[in-house]
Amino acid sequence: RQFLDKIERTRHLNAFLEVYANEALDRAKELDRKIQHGERLGPLAGVVVGIKDVICYKDHKVSAASRILEGFTSLFSATAVDRLLQADAIIIGNLNCDEFAMGSTNENSAFGKVLNALDNTRVPGGSSGGSAVAVQAGLCHISLGSDTGGSVRQPADFCGIVGLKPTYGRISRHGLIAYASSFDQIGIFGKVIADVATVLQVIAGPDEFDSTASQKPVPKYVDQVFDNNKARKFAFLSEALHHDGLDTEMKAGFEAFFDKLETSGHTVSGVPFEYLDYIVPAYYVLTTAEASSNLSRYDGIKYGYQTPLKGLDLNEFYKKNRSEAFGKEVKKRILLGTFVLSSGYYDAYYSKAQKVRRLVAEKLDEILEEYDAILIPTSPTPAFKIGEKLDDPIAMYLADIYTVLANLTGVPAISVPLQRHSNGMPYGLQVISKKFDEANLLQIAHNLL
Ligand code: GLN
Repeated sequence: RQFLDKIERTRHLNAFLEVYANEALDRAKELDRKIQHGERLGPLAGVVVGIKDVICYKDHKVSAASRILEGFTSLFSATAVDRLLQADAIIIGNLNCDEFAMGSTNENSAFGKVLNALDNTRVPGGSSGGSAVAVQAGLCHISLGSDTGGSVRQPADFCGIVGLKPTYGRISRHGLIAYASSFDQIGIFGKVIADVATVLQVIAGPDEFDSTASQKPVPKYVDQVFDNNKARKFAFLSEALHHDGLDTEMKAGFEAFFDKLETSGHTVSGVPFEYLDYIVPAYYVLTTAEASSNLSRYDGIKYGYQTPLKGLDLNEFYKKNRSEAFGKEVKKRILLGTFVLSSGYYDAYYSKAQKVRRLVAEKLDEILEEYDAILIPTSPTPAFKIGEKLDDPIAMYLADIYTVLANLTGVPAISVPLQRHSNGMPYGLQVISKKFDEANLLQIAHNLL
C-alpha cells in the first residue's frame, strides 16, 4: 500500500505504464496467509518489483512502449518473471521505456517521456528510464530492465542508483522482446548491491526456452558480496579517461577516486585501448541490422495495431501498419539496419563491424586475464536536460561510448553511484569483469560503494 500510494503521488514522473494494484495487494495478502500458517516463504517474499515494458508477463499487456503492439497481451511469462513469482516477489506494474528499447533518454516512448525524480527538467536516461526512476523514487524495491547497449547502466547512472548488466547468457531472454538478440540481456536495478545480487541469484541460470542461456550453475552471489575487501588489480582504459567527450569535472572525480583506491592498497593502472572510437559505430551497425530483422515480425496481422484504412492490398496493408505505428527512431533504425545488410553494402558495413566486434572482445579478454576488473565511466556526462540531445542523434549515440563495450563483448558490467556533479546530478563508475564472474564483480562493486 505504501508503494501504491507513492506511485499515485508521483504520476507526473510517468514511470509506470500500468499498475497492478489489486493483484499486488492480493499477493501480499497471500504471503500474509502463508506467514500465519507457518508455510515456507520464497527468497524474495514481499520484495516489490517493477518490470520494463519489454518483458512479458502472462495475461498482462506488453507493448515495448510502441503503438505497434497496441492492445497486445502476453500469452506467457518471461522466465525471469516466472522465477520472481516462484520466489514470492510481488510484481507491482510495468514500466515506461524507449520504444523497443531504442534510445538513451526515454524520450522515444509512445507513452511520453519519463522525468528524472531528482530534477524534473532532466531525463532519467534510457532506454529503461521508467525502471530506473521507479527505484530512484522509491516506487518499488527492485526493477528489471533490458540492456542492449547500456540501457540499464546508463539510466542507473543518471538516477544515482545501481544497475547491473549480467554476462550475455546469464539470464534467460525467453519472454524479453528482442531488439538485437546477440546483445540483449535482462538487467537489474536496485539501491544496494546486495539486493541486486539476491535477485540475480533467483532469476539467473539455464533455461530450456533459451538456447543462449548458459548451462553454468548459478553461484551463491549473496554470500560472497560481503566478503573481505582484498587488494585488487584494477585497470582503467587510458583512451576512455582521456576522451574529449568526458566531462572535465567527472574526469577529475575519477582520477581522485583512483588515487583513493591506491591509498587503500589497490593498484589502478592505465592500459591502452586503441579501439575506443570504433565501438559505437560497430554497435550501431550490428544492432540496427539485428533490429531490422527482429522487427520484421510486426506486420499488423499477428498482433497489435492495424490501420483503419480499408481495401488495401497486402503490401500496402503491411506498409500502412508499420508506417503509422512505429515511431521515428525505430523507423530510422530499421532503415539503417536494412541498408547495412543489403547486398553491395554488407561487406563494407556488417561484416566489417563483426570483425571489429571480435577484435574488441579479444582485447578485452586479454586485459581481464591480467586485471581483476576494468573501471571506466558509465556515461561521459551526467543526465542531460530534456530535449537537449534530440536534434543531434550522433551526439546522442556517441554518449553510449562507455556502455556498448560490455554488450559487444558479452562481459558483465555494473554501474555504481560515485559522486555528485556541481550541477547537482549524480554520476557513477562502471565496473567490468570477466564473463560469468558476477560474484567477483558484485563483491568489488559493494566494496567500492
Ligand atoms: N542507447 C542505446 C541504444 O539506443 C542502448 C539501448 C539499450 O541498451 N537497449 O541502442
